[in-house]
Amino acid sequence: MSQGTSTTSVDLMIHARWIIPVVPENTVLSDCSLVIDNGQILAIHPTTEAKRLYSADHEHHLDEHIVTPGLVNTHNHAAMSLLRGFADDHPLQTWLEEHIWPTEAQWVTPEFVRDGTELSAAEMIRSGTTTFADMYFFPEETAKAALNSGMRCQLHFPVLDFPTAWGQGPDDYIQKGLALSDAYRSHPTINVAFGPHAPYTVSDEPLQRIATLAEEMQAPIQIHLHETAAEVSDAVANTGERPIERLNRLGLLSPLTQCVHMTQVTAEDIEVLKQTGANIIHCPESNLKLASGFCPVKALLDNGINVALGTDGAASNNDQDLFGEMRTAALLAKGVSGDASAVDAHTALRMATLNGAKALGMDAEIGSLEVGKQADITAIAVNQLEQLPLYNPVSALSYNNISHQVSHVWVNGNPLMEDRRLTTLDEHRVREKAKYWQNRIES
Ligand SMILES: [Zn+2]
Repeated sequence: MSQGTSTTSVDLMIHARWIIPVVPENTVLSDCSLVIDNGQILAIHPTTEAKRLYSADHEHHLDEHIVTPGLVNTHNHAAMSLLRGFADDHPLQTWLEEHIWPTEAQWVTPEFVRDGTELSAAEMIRSGTTTFADMYFFPEETAKAALNSGMRCQLHFPVLDFPTAWGQGPDDYIQKGLALSDAYRSHPTINVAFGPHAPYTVSDEPLQRIATLAEEMQAPIQIHLHETAAEVSDAVANTGERPIERLNRLGLLSPLTQCVHMTQVTAEDIEVLKQTGANIIHCPESNLKLASGFCPVKALLDNGINVALGTDGAASNNDQDLFGEMRTAALLAKGVSGDASAVDAHTALRMATLNGAKALGMDAEIGSLEVGKQADITAIAVNQLEQLPLYNPVSALSYNNISHQVSHVWVNGNPLMEDRRLTTLDEHRVREKAKYWQNRIES
């Protein structure tokens, strides 16, 4: 801008054909601009107004695009992308005990976790995700890969009763996890939280310790819960208690808790979830692939329970495409409830953005495009035959297999992808590493 103009200079302006801000609800803005400075959304104006008031160092004219909050993938085991398609078509316990756990015991090292997480980060960025939550061994390596990628990440360090390559047992896992939490205290993009694996792999004493520590630190807890009917019936046969009752008795359920899967839900379970404020992480494609069951999403949402979306690891999905997960969640909710209005297009987008941010305790910072929030943003080009005609932009996002049309992604106003070119990760290197691990594991 020339001297003497009265515009305010800012870092970035994104001029978009459509903006779906998620807050206010059910809103689509036409021909508006996001004004971004110091990593935050400073203003949202009609484009003509924005251009009159501001001048930006970087400007993007996205004339055939929809701009949304960056998607939030609330459950992943990112390094498991290196086992994508490795063991298909088995139920959960067979898949875990006969395929995944033995393979992990042989191969999972810091190098495996770093390379696998970078592969996953590339895939997540290319499909519009800006934040992911992760539960896996060597989380210090996941953190490094997340930093390289520029993605926002909540790391749930694993806790199990038995030893693995990363630790000896509960005390060792918790000690290592707390050290990691210290290392990333107040970090702008990396957040460390508790990841007790599941009720059937962690006993009461470590679960109680985690509940106490999480309360003191106000740190989230993520746990696989009621993933299958067998998990619940086995627990009832062995102890007389449903797993969710046991967690509630141990003090583990609160608004800090993220219950992953919940395919088995009674009216009493819904009361417990309402009273404790615990969040549900719904992973519809993983549940379908492992034939684990159906989470009753409509009933949970109707009861005011926060339901977010996750892909789970690529070994049980087999992709990390949250737009695909939105579509599956919407379709499955209609099928399960017998109600075609269940999980409408706006609700699916909200589950993948603001509900995810809320589950991770990050909804003050991200999850919607509002003034004062961090500029975590995804743009999708809707100019191909498959998107035309376009009567309803949000319908295109939720029902139209759109992830390959994601064009731009920003976190804190920093570009991670521009015109489908990754800016933080080296695509060639990521590809070579994936081939290297395939060769090693196959041989
Ligand atoms: Zn999982």
